[in-house]
Amino acid sequence: MSDIPQERRLVTAIPGPKSAELQARRVAAVAAGVGSTLPVFTARAGGGIIEDVDGNRLIDFGSGIAVTSVGASAEAVVRRASAQLADFTHTCFMVTPYEGYVEVCEQLAELTPGDHAKKSALFNSGAEAVENAVKIARAYTKRTAVVVFDHGYHGRTNLTMGMTAKNMPYKQGFGPFAPEVYRVPVAYGYRWPTGAENAGAEASAQAIDEITKQIGAENVAAIIIEPVLGEGGFIEPAKGFLPAIARFAKDNGIVFVADEIQSGFCRTGQWFACEDEGIVPDLITTAKGIAGGLPLSAVTGRAEIMDAAHAGGLGGTYGGNPVACAGALGAIETMRELDLNGKAKRIEEVMKGRLAEMQSKLPNGDAIGDIRGRGAMIAIELVKPGTKEPDAAAAGALAKACHSEGLLVLTCGTYGNVLRFLPPLVIGEDLLNEGLDIIEQAFAQL
Ligand SMILES: *Cc1c(COP(=O)(O)O)cnc(C)c1O
Repeated sequence: MSDIPQERRLVTAIPGPKSAELQARRVAAVAAGVGSTLPVFTARAGGGIIEDVDGNRLIDFGSGIAVTSVGASAEAVVRRASAQLADFTHTCFMVTPYEGYVEVCEQLAELTPGDHAKKSALFNSGAEAVENAVKIARAYTKRTAVVVFDHGYHGRTNLTMGMTAKNMPYKQGFGPFAPEVYRVPVAYGYRWPTGAENAGAEASAQAIDEITKQIGAENVAAIIIEPVLGEGGFIEPAKGFLPAIARFAKDNGIVFVADEIQSGFCRTGQWFACEDEGIVPDLITTAKGIAGGLPLSAVTGRAEIMDAAHAGGLGGTYGGNPVACAGALGAIETMRELDLNGKAKRIEEVMKGRLAEMQSKLPNGDAIGDIRGRGAMIAIELVKPGTKEPDAAAAGALAKACHSEGLLVLTCGTYGNVLRFLPPLVIGEDLLNEGLDIIEQAFAQL
């Protein structure tokens, strides 16, 4: 890790004058469709700190959207990627292969759930992994339909836009979308009409009924779900939902795909979030936390399914770039050595404890409708006090107040009313608590 002091420091307003200058250049040169949560320009980052070009040091509760779980300059990532960079930057694995790619696939086989024979293919982005999981499932089953869920997020390419639930900002004006994508209910406990305790059984029954009656199970190639739904609001499907869907997939020859792009690689306190209910997916998509910030993604799964696509049918110029593979091996090494699963569990304990205290003790605590998530993937859902009516304005105001105090937080959720916390797993406990102090102050002033 670069030697950035692990301390919050504010020396200018947020954003400062140098960031404002860069932002003016950015507005002139960068397409308006590419947004930024906080236009503070980064100079360096590591551990739990982002240092900006004005010398401010922000506490990072975002990890570049769950990517820099090992920090943004982890020693093993920097060492291995730098060495690889000096050796060679690219050959294209489809032209002349290299060991790093194979080693990442070996690691994926070892770390993902299940002791069956596994194989992997590597790509660049999460969306590309999801696209390829669909290609592989279709090639294996010789069927076409793809089933996704309410509140799901799978990316911004044409197929994955169609698989994503939320219209604004992801889909509006960008259609038409790929055919043969069907959406069914998910067990969103907090908002399930008959209560969270019924959500698992009722939502799975509804989903299965829609699949059998409206699509036809025999037409379905793949069912794809995030074991903890990310962009949709850190929704943990109510207990029983995932096992019921996985069992239905198995009984009907459907490839069950866990999209662990956000929830994987120690984020939820285990290597993969689907381990929580003993789910063994047929295929699993990974990206984000996999390589300490370098662009890499993967599809991993049962060897017989992964081998269904004909030779030359999968790939891409940059897929499994050697520098990104070296970064992934460094990130995995760091996760093992620092027990980042244990760290994520400790982050959950601290965060949930403090957030529950805010909910019960602050005069406006009932604006926190729900506290949820696992490990270092924690969120609060904000509502108009005394109701379950989503309060996106409160989430936005809280995020803004935190930003001006030097704490980077993100929002999410179908209704835009969820404040989500994704600190790097290597964050110090003092910084974690200081971040929570800022949230508490912002909340008290809401
Ligand atoms: C971020 C994300 C994606 C898309 O990944 P990109 O790298 O942005 O293409 C897909 N699925 C899930 C669950 C994600 O969180």
